[in-house]
Amino acid sequence: MIHLLATGGTIAGEIDPEAGHGRYRAGVRPVEALLAAVPGLADAGPLSARQILALDSKDMAPADWLAILAATRASFAEPGCDGVVILHGTDTLEETAWFLHLTLPAGKPVVLTGAMRPADHPAADGPANLLAAVRLAARPEARGKGVLVVMNGMAFGARRVVKARCSGLDAFESTEPWQAARADGRFAGLAPDALPRVDILPGYAGAPADLIAASVATGARGLVLALCGHGSVPSAWLPALRAAHRQGVAIVRGSRASGRVEPDANADDSGEGWLTAGDLPPPKARIALMLGLAAGLSGDGLRAALLDCGG
Ligand code: ASP
Repeated sequence: MIHLLATGGTIAGEIDPEAGHGRYRAGVRPVEALLAAVPGLADAGPLSARQILALDSKDMAPADWLAILAATRASFAEPGCDGVVILHGTDTLEETAWFLHLTLPAGKPVVLTGAMRPADHPAADGPANLLAAVRLAARPEARGKGVLVVMNGMAFGARRVVKARCSGLDAFESTEPWQAARADGRFAGLAPDALPRVDILPGYAGAPADLIAASVATGARGLVLALCGHGSVPSAWLPALRAAHRQGVAIVRGSRASGRVEPDANADDSGEGWLTAGDLPPPKARIALMLGLAAGLSGDGLRAALLDCGG
């Protein structure tokens, strides 16, 4: 039996006639209505469905990731559960997928899907995505791959998938085929009540250094720097970064460009006590750091976890 967990998103969205401009409200249709719109779903095998959230995923918060994790773990524990499908908004889908990839044990398939068009669009993509996700979750080849994402007739592993385009059915892409994905689950033993706050600070010409102190003063325990180029730290940021580090704030040097940020290349990470994001994009490096901090890691332990995730 496949367990389907609905969390909202455009796949459950409806056009907003009052707003015009093609605008719609995400997360308004209940899961029963979404299932009823999928021809052939009954032939895909036994399915149980549960509405766990009803959000536009731009509003998804770490507490919601923990709720989705708890619901997925509960499904795994039920006898006869072969896999889990999660319906999710596309805006932060890759973040939830990566969070679950790090926190669920290897084994049963977990497949996230969503839609780029609302449910009442004349050519809605949600029904086909939902069916493809259920079919993939039931396939033995999907086991041991960790969390997968299905969109627009393609599947991707959580590690490499990104929403690369803000519109169009082909919004998602990855640098590797889903068959090459492998499960992670390094934080599968973790069951925190809350996650520590980690902020992402963007680097750009003239980026003000006082955002660093503002983040720390308002509770950030970690900072992921989404810097230019190979993680180039603006000179004007150094005093504030050093002050944050002295206060015990973990600092990860990442890039807003794709590619790998290497330790001690382009900055004195060893001397400053900074970590590097490897090839993780800043939102995924942030999640790895949040989980590392939640697991009580610091210093070399945190460095090893980050390097391994982002290597
Ligand atoms: N804003 C929507 C959401 O992420 C977009 C979508 O689902 O495509 O929930």
